[in-house]
Amino acid sequence: MKRLLAALAVVTLWALPTLPAAASPGVYMNTVASHLGDPGVWADPDVTELDPSDVAELDALAKSAAAPIRIAVIPAAKINVSKSEYSVRPAWEGEEIADQLYDRVGVEGVYAVLVDASSQSKGRGFHAVQRADHGPTYFVGDAVDQAVDCCAPDYEEMIERFIQRAQVVDKPFYVDAAPFAGGAAGIIALWTTVTGLGARRARRQDEAAHLKVAQPLLDEEIIALSQQVSALPTTTDPQKSKLSKDILDTVEKARQRLDAAKGDKDIEAVSTLLGSARYGLVCLEAVRAGQPIPEPTAPCFFDPRHGPSTAQVRWKPERGAEREVDVCAACKQRDEAGAEPAIRMVKGFQLERPYWEYAEDLSAYVNGYWSRGDGTQWWYPDSDFRRRGEQMRSRWRSRRPGARFSRMRSNVGSTLGSWAASSSSGSDDGDSGWYSGSSRRSSWSSRTRSSGGGSSRRSSRRSGGSRGF
Ligand SMILES: [Zn+2]
Repeated sequence: MKRLLAALAVVTLWALPTLPAAASPGVYMNTVASHLGDPGVWADPDVTELDPSDVAELDALAKSAAAPIRIAVIPAAKINVSKSEYSVRPAWEGEEIADQLYDRVGVEGVYAVLVDASSQSKGRGFHAVQRADHGPTYFVGDAVDQAVDCCAPDYEEMIERFIQRAQVVDKPFYVDAAPFAGGAAGIIALWTTVTGLGARRARRQDEAAHLKVAQPLLDEEIIALSQQVSALPTTTDPQKSKLSKDILDTVEKARQRLDAAKGDKDIEAVSTLLGSARYGLVCLEAVRAGQPIPEPTAPCFFDPRHGPSTAQVRWKPERGAEREVDVCAACKQRDEAGAEPAIRMVKGFQLERPYWEYAEDLSAYVNGYWSRGDGTQWWYPDSDFRRRGEQMRSRWRSRRPGARFSRMRSNVGSTLGSWAASSSSGSDDGDSGWYSGSSRRSSWSSRTRSSGGGSSRRSSRRSGGSRGF
């Protein structure tokens, strides 16, 4: 068998185009691997996007992570096998690039390669994989998505976000391969290394990322609302002028809070204030029309900017069951006319997606809008959104080592059964349910081995992902 593999290796090497020795991607990857014997971050000196102090900081961050993470930043030119000056053909594609690094280091863990180039068509991309037969599965595929969606093409921020997300445990241990006792002992040893300080920092980083997504949206909304309010006709009627002034004050309060915003609490407060201001406008309209002041209601589900809801429609999302959602009058009319709903779309790095697909980044934004202002919430109809927000909050709670211990003790017995059941379906990173990253994984993903590669046996692939940007 070994001889057969060796023969195959020779054949595949032969099949490679002849290249000058210095440019061989395989040899270059050996050099990269030699810098990553220990977890950390290494950047090729030819990569100018990161300066040495950035790399040193990221390296320290990776070394302090709860998972063994190795990240290389390499120029696309060094793994390019195209003979033409004008085109780029990498020696490996997608996750396989990260696997090539894993093969050469030869230790289980999380491997990521950021390929540096001026554009996606020149080979720029971020690729990662977790290989392990023991210990927990981390959110590596999701970490790639988050890094690209939040921060591309800023390498430093991408890598920081990746490190932060790729150390979060998806499944505490590998049921297929790890015997119960060994797995549990391993995981407890790993969890004790997480300190309370690290937990707070991780949460702060999460919240800073949320602010990056929510702040521009709220900024825009405040500007639009201010214009709407300042266009209101002046009035001598005391009730109307009092209402107008209240609305104006509320928008102003939102603006001040947003200017000083630091985290989720601020985002939540701002969207609650904006929801109140829009309700105020509806009240003003009612007073003008000589009608009674309406009860406050949840915002229009399709777009909170539409203001309070006045009706319900049956609606079926792309994925998921049909449900009843609260909508504004205009959306109700559109529904009756058979038109597509006017959904609030939010631009990620490239794609526009409905706002509720940003379950973590816009959790506080939605919570604020769906808050009644007295500590209670209106029902938010997207269960996936609710669940993912809850998972994020329980992740923050469970980062405290004490909490992890007690949860582990009480959950070990009951959850083992469900993991065993889910892993027998053959899915290694949970296509079922709440792992949404897998559906968005692009065509870059390649699980077939191309040429070369060091080790003849790889540990199980737990999770991974690959994105060009
Ligand atoms: Zn609407």
